[in-house]
Amino acid sequence: MKKTVLTGIRPTGNLHIGHYFGASQRWVKLQDEYNCYFEIADVQALTDNFDNPEKVRHNVYELAIDLLSIGINPSKATIFLQSTIPEIAELTVYYSNLVTMSRLYRNPTVKTEIAQKKALFGNEGESVTYGFVGYPVSQAADITAFMGEAIPVGEDQLPLIEQCREIVRKFNNIYGNVLIEPEAVLGETPRIKGLDGNDKMGKSLGNAIYLCDSKEVITEKVMNAITDPAKIRKDDPANPNICMVYYYHKLFSGDEVDTVCSECKAGTRGCVACKRQLIENICKVLQPIQEKRKYYEEHIDEVTKILEEGSKKAREKASATLKEVKKAMQLDYFD
Ligand code: SF4
Repeated sequence: MKKTVLTGIRPTGNLHIGHYFGASQRWVKLQDEYNCYFEIADVQALTDNFDNPEKVRHNVYELAIDLLSIGINPSKATIFLQSTIPEIAELTVYYSNLVTMSRLYRNPTVKTEIAQKKALFGNEGESVTYGFVGYPVSQAADITAFMGEAIPVGEDQLPLIEQCREIVRKFNNIYGNVLIEPEAVLGETPRIKGLDGNDKMGKSLGNAIYLCDSKEVITEKVMNAITDPAKIRKDDPANPNICMVYYYHKLFSGDEVDTVCSECKAGTRGCVACKRQLIENICKVLQPIQEKRKYYEEHIDEVTKILEEGSKKAREKASATLKEVKKAMQLDYFD
């Protein structure tokens, strides 16, 4: 029996190469080894975008196309929409009695995100909603609805898995052994830095290359990447280890990396040529992904069908779990 893996992704924008090297390549491998569910967490995206449903809906399709384009195969894995599974919302209500407010506020991931909101909006009372503080509870419902056993996460999300495990233990202690305690599975790939050298990559920082970026957009971004500031002339020797172009060559340029490094140090390569070589290599890696994206953009009905069928399958599983949960809680009045 294959173990069940649940991966929840908020539809907040297109996937960028940080996602690609950090998580998506791993997701593609996982679908061969595990019983994989990929949840497009549109309800969770509403915690930050409740006043902008058009944006969430648009991003749902963008994310679905990205997932299909990188190689998530609907005949191997289930891609579904969180909002189409009302059982998750019902489980969230039951679990909400098993977590105190102070425990939620102590959750390091929630704490960090509240601090970020405060820094942006200045006033926690006005910017932090009940839905936001409770999202770890809804995440526990996501995981347990599918009896998720292995959850691929980054280190910053470990507290959310721990919170889920606590809820599961409490539920099982009170109502009997129904739920499975999930294990976090940490990835081996480190976080990829932005083109400006920032540890974080994202739209608001303007330092990310998206999987759907055209060659023109990639060229503009790479041409503005941070290089060794000491290299003024084309034949000045430089230090590739402080150059973001070299950092990206290591991701995209395979066997050419050693030559980039030695020529940079020797002052026998100019930054413009070096960047052009990187642009070509990035485009080569992204080309098959972008060809698939084009196909799905032109066959959007197919994407809708994949989501509909995935959601139907996911709902059957969640519904079976909810039945067991309600039975254990003595809420199975008419079964
Ligand atoms: Fe960076 Fe290439 Fe210029 Fe060296 S030659 S500083 S690696 S862009």
